[in-house]
Amino acid sequence: MRKLDGLEAIVTGASRGLGRAIAREYAREGAKVVVCARPQSPTGLAGTIDETARGIEAEGGEALPVTCDVSDESQVKDMVERVMERYGRIDVLVNNAGIMVLGESILEIDTARWDQNMAVNVRGPYLTCKYVLPVMMKQQRGNFISIGSRTTTENRGGVLYSPTKAALHMFSMCLAEEVQEHNIAVNVLNPGPLRSEGSSIIPWAQQDWHLRVEPEAVGPCAVYLALQDARSFTGQTVLRSEFGQTWGF
Ligand code: NAP
Repeated sequence: MRKLDGLEAIVTGASRGLGRAIAREYAREGAKVVVCARPQSPTGLAGTIDETARGIEAEGGEALPVTCDVSDESQVKDMVERVMERYGRIDVLVNNAGIMVLGESILEIDTARWDQNMAVNVRGPYLTCKYVLPVMMKQQRGNFISIGSRTTTENRGGVLYSPTKAALHMFSMCLAEEVQEHNIAVNVLNPGPLRSEGSSIIPWAQQDWHLRVEPEAVGPCAVYLALQDARSFTGQTVLRSEFGQTWGF
């Protein structure tokens, strides 16, 4: 018996980086995983949802790739409908999709980019939670995991990125309270600095590259959170770096 046998999980932003690592780990633990990202990534970075799904299937797992821009309401609605048609339930939603534009001055940021960062990092989780929530309310069980950041509390990310993660943090804490009566857990996972594809194009990430961990290191923490409900663990922020000591793993 694996830890996530019988569960259905959606991981947003699973074409590369942390999302791909969490999706793979969930599938190894027996979950059926929906891997989502945009149909065409404007980043030019390697990785697609089809490749993630093929990697999972090659290891004997089950994955459903679904194209979805999380900032687009109709695409989010369609994704949830597709998942329900295929699996009939959703146990875990990992809000991982995110844009990392760090360290720029307010004068360098044009308004369209500000709006795009807010749309992906804040509106995205709002939309995915909004459309998944009725499913979990029916089940009277479920689990939302938001990928947070140390930039929520430390002034490291700059005026564009940090406010998006601070907003996601508070959104998650408020949602945890709102949905507790339906036995739905909402927690924030702060993965710490990663060696992801996204990090590889942030100039100052090169300076502490040796201190960063591979996204796969976050897997056990993400599995632990996926096993929670509102009776066991909700409204918390878990730091990957302290996971072993603090949470007994
Ligand atoms: P990454 O390598 O850049 O991957 C980002 C993922 O998000 C990709 O799969 C990308 O897919 C997807 N994505 C971007 N915009 C999207 C949209 N509109 N709709 C759907 N998917 C979208 O980044 P990462 O380092 O793995 O970061 C993942 C998460 O961890 C982010 O929320 C980030 O803020 C957080 N985080 C990262 C670090 C770090 O050190 N890297 C530290 C703390 C927190 P497509 O481009 O293919 O659509």
